[in-house]
Amino acid sequence: MSLKNRLQRLHPRLGKEEIDGIFVSQPENRCYLSGFDGSAGFLLITPQNKILATDFRYIEQAQKQAPDYEIFPISSGIPDWLPKLAADVGLKRLGFEAGHITFAIYQQLTDVLKQSQLKLIPVDGLVESLRVLKEPEEIELITEAVEITDSALEYIKDMIHTGMSEKEVAWEIEKFLREKGSEPIPFDVIVASGPNSALPHAKPSSHAIQSGEPIIIDIGARVGGYSSDLSRTIYHGTADDTLNKVYDTVLRAQLAAIAAIKKGMTGGEIDDVARMVIKQAGYGEAFRHGLGHGIGLAPHEQPRLGPNSPDKFAAGMVFTIEPGIYLTGWGGVRIEDMVVIEEDKIRVISKARK
Ligand code: ZN
Repeated sequence: MSLKNRLQRLHPRLGKEEIDGIFVSQPENRCYLSGFDGSAGFLLITPQNKILATDFRYIEQAQKQAPDYEIFPISSGIPDWLPKLAADVGLKRLGFEAGHITFAIYQQLTDVLKQSQLKLIPVDGLVESLRVLKEPEEIELITEAVEITDSALEYIKDMIHTGMSEKEVAWEIEKFLREKGSEPIPFDVIVASGPNSALPHAKPSSHAIQSGEPIIIDIGARVGGYSSDLSRTIYHGTADDTLNKVYDTVLRAQLAAIAAIKKGMTGGEIDDVARMVIKQAGYGEAFRHGLGHGIGLAPHEQPRLGPNSPDKFAAGMVFTIEPGIYLTGWGGVRIEDMVVIEEDKIRVISKARK
């Protein structure tokens, strides 16, 4: 992990935001910039200082995982120690992650800072905008996570049968993912069959799988903190005309989008490509979510692929392409793969059969 390189990319951004330091409270951002993945801790970063604040439960882990950081032991809430710590390192304008600090903590901090020179400046998506460009080591970990998910999909396709409940299938998948080396999975396994599959984020129910109905399986694994996210729609028995037509449309939309991806294109433009295929087949209203999302330390991160998204593709980005059609009362189909933008080509990372 090239933390040095990450900090070097961060420093010029501080100037751009007109802040002289940043307080990082978002856990994935903290892990990205320090290597420390304990469940409680904060960073204070300036061009001269790297401070990791955490409590006694994590001090040893923090020293091991973030040897370049000065460890600052804490035993109470942020407003008790942050203003003094920031003043001690000479900060005047401290950036904080507006999307993550709660309103209550913000209020307490402003109270403490009433008489002080230190100003709190909200910043949004600063570290996230660094995370969006993956380093080769990160892509390797993502690829390992994808391989585990690929093999779980192959495994479940062979073992699924009518009469099994969605919950049973979900548990078989979860066990398999963990046994094949996944860390705690990044999001709950989705197994949605028949009418349940019309809900994009359905919870596995005790519904017994029937012959010929669509079954959406949407799963992720995690390796070294990095997630994968893949979906397949399968069925047992024979598919009827609706399932054949819907499946064919979703697959064509997905392949068209993958074929069209180019550096410099936006998440909105690529969403249009897939959406057009689905519209032309008469299912425009039934594709009710964005085409995809970036993935990394978080299962959903930048870039966003969806109507009007201005996020521009660049080498190093990893994201999902997952069109879907959902027909209330009947069911749905979603097909999701992961791609990486390389210097000279687009590569589909996932390999599970469709
Ligand atoms: Zn996804």
